[in-house]
Amino acid sequence: MPENLDSGITLALENLDEFIQTIIEPAAREMEADVSLDQAASRVRSESIKRGFFGKTQPAEYGGNPVSNLELTALRETLAAANNPLTSYVFGPGPGILHSASGELKERYLDPVLRGEKRGAFGFTEPDSAKRPTWARLNESESELTINGQKSYVTGGKTCDFVSVLVNVERHDSVKAGTAMVVIDRQAEGLVIDREFSSMEGGGHVSMLFNDVQVPVAQVIGNIGEGMPRALGNIGNVRMMVAAEAVGICSWVIDYIEQHLQAPHRSGTPLGDREGVRLRLADMRVETYVARSALYRTARLVDGPENSVNEIIATKIFCTEAVGRVVDMAVQLAGGQALVVGHPLEKLYRKVRSMRLIEGASDLLRINLVKGKLELGKGRL
Ligand SMILES: Cc1cc2nc3c(=O)[nH]c(=O)nc-3n(C[C@H](O)[C@H](O)[C@H](O)COP(=O)(O)OP(=O)(O)OC[C@H]3O[C@@H](n4cnc5c(N)ncnc54)[C@H](O)[C@@H]3O)c2cc1C
Repeated sequence: MPENLDSGITLALENLDEFIQTIIEPAAREMEADVSLDQAASRVRSESIKRGFFGKTQPAEYGGNPVSNLELTALRETLAAANNPLTSYVFGPGPGILHSASGELKERYLDPVLRGEKRGAFGFTEPDSAKRPTWARLNESESELTINGQKSYVTGGKTCDFVSVLVNVERHDSVKAGTAMVVIDRQAEGLVIDREFSSMEGGGHVSMLFNDVQVPVAQVIGNIGEGMPRALGNIGNVRMMVAAEAVGICSWVIDYIEQHLQAPHRSGTPLGDREGVRLRLADMRVETYVARSALYRTARLVDGPENSVNEIIATKIFCTEAVGRVVDMAVQLAGGQALVVGHPLEKLYRKVRSMRLIEGASDLLRINLVKGKLELGKGRL
């Protein structure tokens, strides 16, 4: 457990450990026998509601009990360190990009999302082959948008109820009106899923085409012109979530590899007796220590009053790159058995690779970080 946490967070972490040991781990073992994923997930979800974890990612006005970034970070790190797929059912769905939705948008999309009745997806990335980024044309009375274009990488796009899409808006006379985030029903006429694919960590995605999709202006989140800031509005929290998960995985891997290095080896002495192997374990521990230290310092900054965008970026870059190195070295020390399909390190090796691309590719974040410092004077060391 990290140091200097207040008694409320310490208690929450103790309760979470107990939840993992008494509910989540047994439920995962039952899944290896005859219990389905749906049954196991619903057990974890209902226990999480009962124990007060479910609402920690949800706003108070929707019955949630939101907590500080520091607490959320500590809980997320602990969940990731359990390395158990059922931990993804502990927290309830947050509002995400719909956080400030009102009126019909709130009733038709945000409320059902928070009740767990509807699921949204996010359409931001454009294919390299796009002739033009996805665009929306306003009609003369400015009551309706006609959307054309494409999005290349929409996670959960096949099973979602709606997708929030970043578009460039132009008026009926072709004058540019800025970007907007628009909510489009997946079943809307003209929305075509043209490819389904999965990525190496197991995620399911689609690419979508928009062929003259008609959407009322009421389905714009906020105002036209606010698309890009809204698309990126919650990204700091998401980046902290990814960093916490990366650090939790590092901890699980180090525990795993330390047991492996102390176990009997065919050479007659445990691998951990060799100095060369110890050097590699030292590197893994150094990486994890530094990543964890950065994670908790930044979580505290996020809860403070001052801007912490640059620190979040630095943390996301470092933690996701560190977990890549840590898992890679663990595979090396565990040997060929770690690459057998289904081995926990094989699964993690595939899982952590996407972390350096999602929610900001590492090098693009580096560029933003330096821009923040040199052009805006932001960023601590
Ligand atoms: C598992 C997974 C889930 C995803 N889910 C979604 C989703 O739900 N919705 C969605 O919209 N997208 C999603 N994406 C897409 C993801 O957001 C993009 O892959 C990511 O933003 C990188 O964009 P890109 O793939 O177009 O690569 P590019 O933008 O082409 O960048 C490729 C590389 O080129 C280099 N590069 C690019 N630009 C610069 C520059 N200006 N300066 C220096 N170097 C540069 C960097 O090394 C970068 O990593 C997902 C991706 C993955 C892997």
